[in-house]
Amino acid sequence: MSGAGRSTPPPAPEPLPIPVVDNHTHLDLARDGEDVPDVRAVIEAAVAVGVPRMVQIGCDLPSARFTVEVIDRHGALLGGVALHPNEAPRLQACGEVDSARNEIERLASHPRVRVIGETGLDYYRTAADGVAAQQDSFRWHIDLAKRTGKTLQVHDRDAHDDVLRILAEEGAPAHTVLHCFSGDVAMARECVERGYFLSFAGTVTFKNATGLRNALAVTPAENLLVETDAPFLTPAPHRGATNSPYLVPLTVRAMAAVLSTDVPSLCTALAANSERLYGPW
Ligand SMILES: [Zn+2]
Repeated sequence: MSGAGRSTPPPAPEPLPIPVVDNHTHLDLARDGEDVPDVRAVIEAAVAVGVPRMVQIGCDLPSARFTVEVIDRHGALLGGVALHPNEAPRLQACGEVDSARNEIERLASHPRVRVIGETGLDYYRTAADGVAAQQDSFRWHIDLAKRTGKTLQVHDRDAHDDVLRILAEEGAPAHTVLHCFSGDVAMARECVERGYFLSFAGTVTFKNATGLRNALAVTPAENLLVETDAPFLTPAPHRGATNSPYLVPLTVRAMAAVLSTDVPSLCTALAANSERLYGPW
């Protein structure tokens, strides 16, 4: 699809009573046929509803370079840099793994890059012949997070068992986040047991996501985060529209309902967890 123009943005939700962090967003990505959003306008809209800070995640070299540049310009942002699991086989095929890793490591030394991610495994979009390159890349990023003392953000698509196995084999960094958590109750319990953080995205609001809501329901507040993964995964009732950090309150309120907790308590926990992971900014 192209030339579709921009879809009408959903209206701003009611502001949150206590500010929270969008733990994972992509300010440099646009959906098909749309323009990349204006970063200042995105931040202003989010600030207005109680989401004054966000973590910008770079997924490949151009995106990681953008991340370092944009966090220098906007105090509301921290950064994450990595080579996405779908990028790993491509880099290996063209013999660019070493040079790409060197640059990621250099960009990761920026004091406001506080995340190594997103890395991990994606068995949905990568064929079997790319799995070895992905796993090798995941192991390298785990080691980088440990060496730099930064938080690891893990992408896991249809790869739950191998993600957990490799984290255990390598020894997970002190701060490990499963971004856009997509596991079931058993996996949530295992992650909590290991001290990982579970970051919930708009998917938890989807009508058919009962299993995911059950997983959320057994996760203690100390292990919870919220994110958009914008411009994707727009929460209900705006599924299909373009996502943006200002829609975080919809996901937070849905999470509070699942957890049978009040919104201010959940916001307090979410904010404290983000600061524990990334430090103040
Ligand atoms: Zn993402």
